[in-house]
Amino acid sequence: MIEPLLKDDAFLEDVRRARLEAPAALHLWWLGQSGFLLQWRGRHLLFDPYLPDSLARKHAGTDRPHVRLTARVVAPERLDFIDVVTSSHNHTDHLDAETLRALAAANPDLRLVCARANLPMAAERSGFEDDALVDLDPEAEPRSAKVKGFGITAVPAAHESVELNAAGLHRHVGFVVQAGPWRVYHSGDTVRFPGMERLPALQDVDVAILPINGRRPGGRNAGNLTGPEAAELARAIRARLAIPCHYGMFESDPATPEAFVRRCEELGQACRVLQAGERLMLGGRG
Ligand SMILES: [Zn+2]
Repeated sequence: MIEPLLKDDAFLEDVRRARLEAPAALHLWWLGQSGFLLQWRGRHLLFDPYLPDSLARKHAGTDRPHVRLTARVVAPERLDFIDVVTSSHNHTDHLDAETLRALAAANPDLRLVCARANLPMAAERSGFEDDALVDLDPEAEPRSAKVKGFGITAVPAAHESVELNAAGLHRHVGFVVQAGPWRVYHSGDTVRFPGMERLPALQDVDVAILPINGRRPGGRNAGNLTGPEAAELARAIRARLAIPCHYGMFESDPATPEAFVRRCEELGQACRVLQAGERLMLGGRG
């Protein structure tokens, strides 16, 4: 089992300290898989948190056992300071009922931002009331919303391919979050699709958070960027910093970040590999 750099009390203490010591900086922690906690000026947003062990239980004894490789950073019920949570698509590691229900109980005014195509599923799994759900689509208005001080814009994702529902809405999305002067792109699960690097919302991002586990052999609807492809996409959109994710969580997903780092170095792309529970800080103190 991989141990997070910080977990439980030590992790929560770091979140508290970040806010006190450098409130104007952007703080970002990896929670494992595609889950990140973003803090800016005392506000908190969670990208795609997956914090219980539900997948391991759900898939136990099947051909996809989803055994955890990395210990949990923190129990969701202890995150009682969250303003916004996102879900990029309906797969359980990005839309987990146990995580979302625990977060909702701990945060009565929490908002869940999801793809409009996934609104019924997001409501069902999370148990959130209508007024707590914010649904966006990359190509149907509204594409963006201001939610608890964060500007959030949906962008297309291609989880192998761009998939639309019968109403023409995107089933898989990424989000660009504007927090004060900072722009953070969380791609969700995606490969690179034609024209992606020219999407207006992806220009000028400070951080690009990208999956690196690649295509699963024989898997349907599970395609993600490989490490080198993630590095190349970050370079193509001129992200100031690239962070890899979607590895190290499940035994069934053995990717590691070395090839991503190597390709970033070849391309002159700044990157940072975080451990679970580790914090990245952008900007100064004060
Ligand atoms: Zn995923």
